[in-house]
Amino acid sequence: MKTIIGLLTTCLTVLTMMDPAQAAGNLKIDYTLSFPQAQTHYVEVEMNISGITQPTIDLKLPVWTPGSYMVREYAKHLESFSAENAGKSLIFKKTDKSTWRVSLAGAKSLKVKYSLYCFEMSVRNNYVTSAQGFIVGASTFLYPAGAIANASTVHIKPYKGWDKVSTSLDKVGDDQFTVVAPNYDILYDSPIEVGNQDVFGFKSGNTEYEIAMCLGGNYDRERMKKDLKILVEKETAIFGENPNKRYVFLVHNYSKSGGGIEHLSSTVLQVVRNQYGSEGGYQRFLALAAHEHFHLWNVKRLRPIALGPFNYDVENYTTNLWIAEGFTAYYDNLVVHRMGLYSDDNYLKMITSDMNLIDNTPGSRVQPLAEASFDAWIKYYRPTENSVNAGISYYSKGSIVAMMFDLEIIKGSKGKYSLDDAMKHLYNEYYKVKKRGYTDAEFKAGVEKFAGTKVDDIYNKYITGLDAMDYNKYLAYAGLKAVDSLAETNVPTLGITMSPPGTKPMIATVLRGSAAWNDGLNVNDEITAVDGQPFTTLRAITTNRKVGDKVTLSVLRDGLPYSIPVTLLRNNQVRYDIVSVPNPTAEQVAVKTKWLKQ
Ligand SMILES: [Zn+2]
Repeated sequence: MKTIIGLLTTCLTVLTMMDPAQAAGNLKIDYTLSFPQAQTHYVEVEMNISGITQPTIDLKLPVWTPGSYMVREYAKHLESFSAENAGKSLIFKKTDKSTWRVSLAGAKSLKVKYSLYCFEMSVRNNYVTSAQGFIVGASTFLYPAGAIANASTVHIKPYKGWDKVSTSLDKVGDDQFTVVAPNYDILYDSPIEVGNQDVFGFKSGNTEYEIAMCLGGNYDRERMKKDLKILVEKETAIFGENPNKRYVFLVHNYSKSGGGIEHLSSTVLQVVRNQYGSEGGYQRFLALAAHEHFHLWNVKRLRPIALGPFNYDVENYTTNLWIAEGFTAYYDNLVVHRMGLYSDDNYLKMITSDMNLIDNTPGSRVQPLAEASFDAWIKYYRPTENSVNAGISYYSKGSIVAMMFDLEIIKGSKGKYSLDDAMKHLYNEYYKVKKRGYTDAEFKAGVEKFAGTKVDDIYNKYITGLDAMDYNKYLAYAGLKAVDSLAETNVPTLGITMSPPGTKPMIATVLRGSAAWNDGLNVNDEITAVDGQPFTTLRAITTNRKVGDKVTLSVLRDGLPYSIPVTLLRNNQVRYDIVSVPNPTAEQVAVKTKWLKQ
């Protein structure tokens, strides 16, 4: 920008014509979050902005939060917006669903207040009760248009009795109730927990880890510290460095689980409060922690080119969530296996559950993996009764693609490399050296560099194509094969699922290509009778009947009775076991050892 010399009016004219991003660079922004009535699920937000040079300022709330690919319309929870300067109200108007335009009337600073209703118990929404204040940046902090690069300060006034703040944002001095964010990308990527959580931690290399356990649970602090330390070190070894000085595991212990969400220097995990008591429950917690922590590299730093810098106003489309999520899903169980907590057999069973899901989902023959990623915003995150027929999980199929790449690299490099080496290389190349996201072609080249061979076949068949997955081609490299234990069966089925027990017997899904699909049973049909006998259970319909038998179902559809003859078809569902081939070669044994023992 040229230096401006001239009359004040000239300066003002120039300033009002400035690029909003340049004008925004001068803004000083701070927020105060207070919880005077946490029991009503509200957080009160006060935003003070000074250094304003424009006649109007647009304040915007993101419509989504990174890590959760759905437009959530966070502004729907915002109420009682007001703006003032020196005690005088300023005029404002909404210009779209998430933007408030305030007229400054010559003022250089501004105080904005608003209330947010926070009562969705999930990792991607605010949740405020008398027991905790969980704040998701993107759903809380209005940002001045063009000011995403600006720093801000957040002051926290807790509800009565709350004494702790857990967040990866830096504190100001020793004051835990004042934190700072160098820019909005970091503010929106750093959830804040205020309450009475149980806080403990450990150190790994140069990184301080904090674990904040909210709302109780039957966990063993010492065991959790020990195991999470091993876990983060196994993952750090894959990428060769831990880029965080501090990392926070925020754990919400509720009566029901709700998954997790990754952030740059923290994660939020929603776990069943008493699942730590069983080995299986504790391992599921570790696998969830392994998944979200792995994301600190894979997607938060090593990322598809479309995922950052973010546009918080609209969907950010990428065809690469099968890498961001599927590869992370592959590594979550693999890392827990590397910790020595799963036997080889248990680990291979986990892989078969993804294979079963893919082959038993008719949508896997309809929606290519890359498209499943692109349409996550409208499909994966907005499931319907027909999702099973129309789409495929980029977690499950992406995880199997990762396994195929891993085995291809181990075999191609004669055991010198694994997928770990490709991930480390890609992290160095794109996050550290080029400081940008990767393209499709660049990621593929990164894998091929270590496999020593082209992987077009996998891309063409399983990523952009719809071929049935040839698991055994890749498992054979390790002397293994998948066997469908149902292959020899000839069991009849309708091809439907029912509403949960204890509710009216309604059809919940109709599988594409099934007897029910062909003969016209509908989702929401209430089954009343089968061949004139009262309906009891779904299983009873096929017991003592054969493939090809005809059965007449009486249903109530939207209150009207229908009689629907159905010809039972073979149940084509698969159930894989992974077993060793007889007499594996030395090369196969070496691949298996590299894969499962490193
Ligand atoms: Zn994930």
